[in-house]
Amino acid sequence: MSQVIKIAILGAGYAGVAAARTLEKKYRSNSDVQILLIDALPFHTMRTILHEVAAGVIDEDMAKINLVEVFKDTGVQVIEDYIVEIDVENQVLLSKRDRYDYDYLIIGAGSNTKRLSIRGMDCCSHSIWNLKDAMSLGRALDKFMGDDVNITVVGAGFTGVEVAGELAGRWRQAKISLINSKSVFMPEYSLKTRRKAERQLEILGVSLINKARVSEVKHENLILEDGRLIHSDLIVWTAGTEDREVLDGLKLSGSFHHFQSSLQYQNSRHCIEGSHIKYKSQLLYP
Ligand SMILES: Cc1cc2nc3c(=O)[nH]c(=O)nc-3n(C[C@H](O)[C@H](O)[C@H](O)COP(=O)(O)OP(=O)(O)OC[C@H]3O[C@@H](n4cnc5c(N)ncnc54)[C@H](O)[C@@H]3O)c2cc1C
Repeated sequence: MSQVIKIAILGAGYAGVAAARTLEKKYRSNSDVQILLIDALPFHTMRTILHEVAAGVIDEDMAKINLVEVFKDTGVQVIEDYIVEIDVENQVLLSKRDRYDYDYLIIGAGSNTKRLSIRGMDCCSHSIWNLKDAMSLGRALDKFMGDDVNITVVGAGFTGVEVAGELAGRWRQAKISLINSKSVFMPEYSLKTRRKAERQLEILGVSLINKARVSEVKHENLILEDGRLIHSDLIVWTAGTEDREVLDGLKLSGSFHHFQSSLQYQNSRHCIEGSHIKYKSQLLYP
């Protein structure tokens, strides 16, 4: 009797779903391979359009894709569960209610806003990393509908630029500031592209503040390291990402040879390599 090989995929974001689809095609006719796709939510979240959900341009349902529907009639078993621990040594994923053994593990748990020790960041700013955050930001924005409002987006990476642009397009009467900690805006790009992006933000009325690092967040103000104070009725924090909590303190050994889950916007790749599985998903900003 042959032994079943269990492949667990943690996270059904872009990376996890693509991994499940690829593996499912590869092993479709092989009943000895079992694929589990585990996510805390019953749907895939289209994170790349969350700024549109927050701005009220599209409905929240448009950002959700039912996972059972996607994988019906395939060999992929979809499990809705929140994994609290990865026991690498014993090759098991643990949730509060269950445990999932695996032979190979692919981690596609994405990232979170970086936990920085900036006073007031948690209580007084909004995030946009998941659907719940986007909707909460949307509700906060609705309160200012029609008013002259000061909105500050912290972080001039691609997400921050997208958020600032979307909000400026939607709230013409809003005064939107975009905080860039670097001295140059979008340094990864050519001067021509940077100028084009800066011009576009200008047309939308977004004020770009370069070389500005936030030292404290207050209810209606942002305080910069150089002492400047920026009045903000609403603050959206997009600066910095880090791995999800489930990966905290994880020591990788056993079937892992190499592990990389960091986001690199220019070459955004989520790469997990196990002894027999090598998976890369490319998701590039347009
Ligand atoms: C507003 C916004 C706009 C963006 N626009 C673009 C863009 O235009 N182009 C681009 O390339 N990128 C864009 N990005 C970045 C892009 O969304 C991320 O790079 C991408 O989502 C990462 O994919 P992922 O599969 O690694 O993780 P995610 O998409 O974050 O998926 C991770 C999944 O893991 C699940 N999960 C996490 N922890 C656990 C756990 N412990 N137990 C169970 N499940 C868990 C989560 O529920 C989630 O479904 C944008 C991001 C934002 C926020």
